[in-house]
Amino acid sequence: MTDTHAHLDFLEEAELEDAKAHFPELRAILTLGVDPTRWERTLALAQENVYAAVGLHPTSAHLLSPEVEEALRYYACHPRVRAVGESGLDYYWTPETKPAQLKALEFQATLAEELGLPLVLHVRSKDGQAEEDLAAWLLAHRPKRVVLHAFGGHPALEAAGLEVGAYFSFAGPLTYKKNQALREAAQRLPLHKLLVETDTPFLPPEPHRGKRNLPHHVRHTLNRLAEVRGVALEEMESITDQNAETCFRWT
Ligand SMILES: [Zn+2]
Repeated sequence: MTDTHAHLDFLEEAELEDAKAHFPELRAILTLGVDPTRWERTLALAQENVYAAVGLHPTSAHLLSPEVEEALRYYACHPRVRAVGESGLDYYWTPETKPAQLKALEFQATLAEELGLPLVLHVRSKDGQAEEDLAAWLLAHRPKRVVLHAFGGHPALEAAGLEVGAYFSFAGPLTYKKNQALREAAQRLPLHKLLVETDTPFLPPEPHRGKRNLPHHVRHTLNRLAEVRGVALEEMESITDQNAETCFRWT
């Protein structure tokens, strides 16, 4: 199994030890460093089956400057880096920085394209406006390889993602009882575009809700995805491992 989205640098020392004991169960883990203070640490964590992504989270987009652009380009060229991000639009926490978020998104999309790396996208808002805007952005810019991280099932984003050949990455919320609409989306999306992730230490799947999440908990989301698609767990594991390999090119 593969965890395509974790933030190992958010874990406390004891949590990281616990997580590491389970790393051999995973084919690969992508850990994302989301602001300039985290890139160095994220690369240090990228050992063995752990790979790195570096980027500027939309809630940190206001930090973009020529110096930060130069530093991001430098870290993104590191041999353990397999993606740029997470970038995207977040009007839930930081609606006031919308222009900066768009600028940071454009920069990261261009960088990903130049380096031949996938672009990992985050999106969040109260009223779906960020999802609408991101869908329009995708259709206008058509990035070559793009991942919709913790896909939440927004219809316009689903349509735009399908149109540009995006990967749809499912996190813990796929296992939540109330999320039937999300499971219906998981049911109809193309098998070869499905990924699973934890967003460690956030978004824990059932039965770990209310606790901090760890990469090996991705098994619960994988299990639920297999059920939703009516295939055996081993088959869904092999499909999502292969999709992650195609997207991130671990080897
Ligand atoms: Zn994240």
